[in-house]
Amino acid sequence: MLRIGAHVSISRSKTGSDSSSPPYDDIRNAVHRQVEIDGNCGQIFTHSPQVWQDPSFDDEEAELFRRETEENLDGPWVIHSSYLVNLCTPKDDLREKSVDSMQKEVDAAEKLGVEYVNVHLGAHTGAGVDGGLENAASALDELEIPEGVTVLLESDAGAGTKLGGDFEHLARVLDMSEQDLDVCIDTAHAFAAGYDLSSTVGVENTLREFDDVVGLEHLQCIHLNDSKHECGTNKDEHAHVGEGHIGEEGMRALVTHPDLEDVPFVLETPTEDGKSFAWNVERVKEFREEQATV
Ligand SMILES: [Zn+2]
Repeated sequence: MLRIGAHVSISRSKTGSDSSSPPYDDIRNAVHRQVEIDGNCGQIFTHSPQVWQDPSFDDEEAELFRRETEENLDGPWVIHSSYLVNLCTPKDDLREKSVDSMQKEVDAAEKLGVEYVNVHLGAHTGAGVDGGLENAASALDELEIPEGVTVLLESDAGAGTKLGGDFEHLARVLDMSEQDLDVCIDTAHAFAAGYDLSSTVGVENTLREFDDVVGLEHLQCIHLNDSKHECGTNKDEHAHVGEGHIGEEGMRALVTHPDLEDVPFVLETPTEDGKSFAWNVERVKEFREEQATV
């Protein structure tokens, strides 16, 4: 079954191009926005991702969110953690804030009935690759992850000292950590990090490599984004499905790959240029339908 949705806002103030007038003034807006773009799963921030902040909803809202989700979507939902979180950091204060923030996200996920909390490993900023990966694993081990919630390590574009660009990094943290962790591949990040997803052969090779290094059984989500930059540039800028350097052949190969049939696709495509999430959802649905009729 095709699971596709978008990263949507939970607040009324930050309405994207896809949103006319949401009927709610709380976290249920996120459910409404998926329905509007014809999505059946999706991703949210629980608060502004640019600042250290607690998730902004109360128990009653959480209950409403669960109910609306049950009635309107197939799921799953993913919570994307704050951009400030850096699990690889060698700095004690930043590590403490990161663990604290992640704990609040996994607790929020439990309250909302959200299955996944997605996080970037972060940057080692001088600790070295080995040191950074060890920091990440031990930071994750400090979390008390509630039953029913899984933390996903997201693949990175690999700029500067950021880790997670290499599938090997993700595999090593999965291995070192005592937690049951899984993985989210961001297609724009993986492409920027050097995995060629622009052709059917490239997609096949990348998935085989992922399976060898990490294991496809750990792949629980794909951030489906095309890339504004070429393969291997480490530059992270998302484009609409089929309109970037990954292009139509690569995107088609991804969304129709038999190994990815049931993996949820979450769009993080641009929202400021008038081409909506709905347009991207429609495109992906067309790729699947065209495949079915071949
Ligand atoms: Zn992403």
